[in-house]
Amino acid sequence: MPPLKVLFVSPEVEPFIKVGGLADMVGSLPKALTALGHDVRIVMPAYGSLKRDSAWHARPDPLGVDVGTEAHWARTWENVLPGSKVPVYALEHEGFFGRPEVYAGPWGNFPDNDLRFTFLCRGALNLCLQLGWIPDVVHCHDWTTGLLPLLLNTTLRHTPLGQTASVFTIHNLEHQGYADRRVLSFAHIPPEEFRTDSTESVGAVNQMKAGLYHATKLTTVSPTYAEEIKTPAGGFGLDHVLRYRAADLLGIVNGIDTTAWNPAMDKYLPRPYNQRSVEAGKAVSKAALQARLDLDLDPHIALFGVVSRFASQKGLDLLAEALPHVLERMHVQFAILGAGDPGLEHVFRWAAEQYPGRVGMHVGYDNSLAHLIQAGSDLFVMPSRSEPCGLTQLYAMRYGTPPLVRSTGGLVDTVSQYVEGQPAGTGFRFNDATAPALYNTLGWACATYYDRPAEFHALRLRGMNQDFGWDVSARRYEELYQWAVDARRATPLP
Ligand code: ADP
Repeated sequence: MPPLKVLFVSPEVEPFIKVGGLADMVGSLPKALTALGHDVRIVMPAYGSLKRDSAWHARPDPLGVDVGTEAHWARTWENVLPGSKVPVYALEHEGFFGRPEVYAGPWGNFPDNDLRFTFLCRGALNLCLQLGWIPDVVHCHDWTTGLLPLLLNTTLRHTPLGQTASVFTIHNLEHQGYADRRVLSFAHIPPEEFRTDSTESVGAVNQMKAGLYHATKLTTVSPTYAEEIKTPAGGFGLDHVLRYRAADLLGIVNGIDTTAWNPAMDKYLPRPYNQRSVEAGKAVSKAALQARLDLDLDPHIALFGVVSRFASQKGLDLLAEALPHVLERMHVQFAILGAGDPGLEHVFRWAAEQYPGRVGMHVGYDNSLAHLIQAGSDLFVMPSRSEPCGLTQLYAMRYGTPPLVRSTGGLVDTVSQYVEGQPAGTGFRFNDATAPALYNTLGWACATYYDRPAEFHALRLRGMNQDFGWDVSARRYEELYQWAVDARRATPLP
């Protein structure tokens, strides 16, 4: 396959700024594509929280960004993805990106998010023109980049970027980026694009919808989620668009960064381990985790881990509802890390106070604790109501921690059901999004842990044996990019 020039445009990039799994994907897939010989580059915002250490260099020439009616300028910072040669450009603009957060401050979503991310989209394209580097494909990620394919199809169609194809990846269909129609004029997009088969939903601009209608090809992060979002139950009001574009939509499971998430080389673990040393290695991490979260130091008790955003999508309300019953009737501990919904934070805090030594929790974002929970837990709980792909269950399996998940989206594609008495499965799955279903499955997992230790050990090893790297999925993206390029070149200019 001939090498392609691919530009990633994303609001989050691990390890620079991360809110969720989108950052992990954008921080790792480009490395795998570069290893296949492609020229991949990334553009992101330079948020106020971005540490501009000596690895970052400011480009000498300012970047003009064609948005709004006044002149807008950005300063471009340049770096590489650590451990690679993938160039990363971060656009600095005090008004749009000077604040530290990505999407929301203490008072909720920023009211100018539409303008901020339009600035990112147009800035990324203007940077290509400034560099004289014309990508074959721009790979867009979620609603913040939804207007970019539309810009390529309209405003920029008769520029050097007019032949550039776009691939739009849905990481989470739930967040669609509704905006006032002012965003179209700000983006210099023709006003006639404000119509239902382009950008309009219920009287506003829906930036996700724009991406879905206008990208050359669409992907989402697992095959099952690709099916779910084409149904009214899973389509968040956009299922009709996805059915319309079904022939161009592909579900590709995310890989993981196998260097950052490797129990044999993990700097956050007191004693890294591999398959041969898994029991001993995990025992040391378990003790460290128990100490860190004020849990009773008990090497034998079944310890369940949770690392998650506290959002209704993650189904943690089911865990909150089941928790008192589980703690009254099962000999278990919980290690919970997350932040978000204040109600859930409150419930888990209450549980930690009510059951000292049995429930340990930390509210906030803490990468080192996330690693320790993956290693130190015996089981990993993920009762998601919907889950486009999910990464934490992949990390859990790699760390020998069988996941307990609800059968939805990417969890179906990545966790196979344990079958008692047989050498099958990598975790425990349940169907109904109810607290009793979760309770029963926690009980089943607990019984397996205590009563069938040999089978439990085999379950651990089967998870650790899975291949979660990017090799297979990167090849699928490569193929898809080529389809997108071919389709774009075959589309006549208007
Ligand atoms: P989502 O993108 O929906 O949040 P994923 O499972 O795809 O879910 O990715 C979540 C990522 O964020 C994982 O890398 C996980 O380790 C990380 N993460 C989530 N919550 C926290 C937290 N409180 N502290 C540290 N890392 C977290």
